[in-house]
Amino acid sequence: MISQIKGLHHVTSLASKASPNNAFFTNTLGLRRIKKTVNFDAPDVYHLYYGDEEGTPGTVMTYFPFPDAARGRPGTGEVGRTSFAVPEGTLKAWADRLSNHGTTGLSTDTRFGENRLLFDGPDGDAFALVETESDDRAPWTGSGVGEDIAIRGFHSADMRLADEGASAELLKYMGYEEIDRHDNITRFAVPDGNEANVIDIEIIKGANHAGQGAGSVHHIAFAVENRARQLEVREALIDTGYAVTPVIDRDYFWAIYFRTPGGVLFEVATNEPGFATDEDTAHLGEALKLPSQHAHLRERLERVLEPIG
Ligand code: ZN
Repeated sequence: MISQIKGLHHVTSLASKASPNNAFFTNTLGLRRIKKTVNFDAPDVYHLYYGDEEGTPGTVMTYFPFPDAARGRPGTGEVGRTSFAVPEGTLKAWADRLSNHGTTGLSTDTRFGENRLLFDGPDGDAFALVETESDDRAPWTGSGVGEDIAIRGFHSADMRLADEGASAELLKYMGYEEIDRHDNITRFAVPDGNEANVIDIEIIKGANHAGQGAGSVHHIAFAVENRARQLEVREALIDTGYAVTPVIDRDYFWAIYFRTPGGVLFEVATNEPGFATDEDTAHLGEALKLPSQHAHLRERLERVLEPIG
């Protein structure tokens, strides 16, 4: 078993249009846009990052907006819902806020004793706000959502699978412990994690395999402190039989990727160096930042990428 993983680092999803995506995460949810860059593997497409003030691992929601991408088809073998933590007693205020902003799919329920407000993102993305008791992460308040209700970061991600088998084993190998179970849902958490340290596995028998598109989660990334810890994790996963990519430089973190038995793409990302490597923390996310390999494309990219402010 490995002990280097501390919870989620980021969640990356697909979108159809950059502007509504940007407006939803900054104006409606009140997150900070912490980076405006491009998909390093397809630089004609933005890579937009939203999170807390500094883009602390465990708060970072990222998007590839492919203009006019078709909607994803929900199913098994994917992350079916992404949940953010908010303080206790704030879901009523959030329901009013989301409703006033025209957010659809609003409903409430309780899971493992925690109150949730479910809602849709701009491309039908499945989200939830979860009231949590003791989350001392400082929220970003610069986008107009007060500190009393603002999002603290991720609470959890739900893996929707046809069967639990090897995925539960994998999570346990990655340092997660089963902490609760009800009906078809099993909750896992990393002890002493980064608060974004919960994964729910939801078993849906007989459902179709998901088709990825706008509104789908592309992959989830788990946080490790630094490159040395990442190499230990990579070696351990390879020893266990996983096909793991080489370490890839993503400028703001180093990344390795592997496909889980249930079909979900996992990444392990470093907390170093962070998002203030190419712009000041005070101005994160304002200018279009390009990795050095795509710097020569700037003139064209500034012309073809949709302006999002
Ligand atoms: Zn990633």
